[in-house]
Amino acid sequence: MRYEKQTYWIVIFALVIVLFVSYLPNSHSMNLSDMSMEEKKEFHISLKTDIQEELLEQSRYRCCLKKPCTYCIEKTPGHGEGATCDCLSDIVNGKHPCGECIGEILEGHGNPYLKEYFAEAIAEEVGMNHLDEIQKIIDEKYA
Ligand SMILES: [Zn+2]
Repeated sequence: MRYEKQTYWIVIFALVIVLFVSYLPNSHSMNLSDMSMEEKKEFHISLKTDIQEELLEQSRYRCCLKKPCTYCIEKTPGHGEGATCDCLSDIVNGKHPCGECIGEILEGHGNPYLKEYFAEAIAEEVGMNHLDEIQKIIDEKYA
């Protein structure tokens, strides 16, 4: 009799735990199919920021922009390994950075301290015959 009563309470306790865990907000937000597009977007951005911050601390996200690019996280290998970014070393070595960085540099969002390297590194990808035009854009955007 005493044993049955104990089992009864253990079952009740287990049920309460299961209900509690299934209502935790975290277990819901981790289920992608239940997330709204807005929640997925926020999740995506928070993951991106987390990856960049962790790699930045290890000096493994070295970008050439004022605000680090996102493209390199999934573009590697090519501009780094794993989720790293090597656009900065590509730029100073006369090699083109990732496509996002090329676009952002031409919009004027590159790190201005690197401006002397931009035109040649971009021309390495789009064609050296465009070097003069690219240099004109860089001179204008980083005056
Ligand atoms: Zn980049």
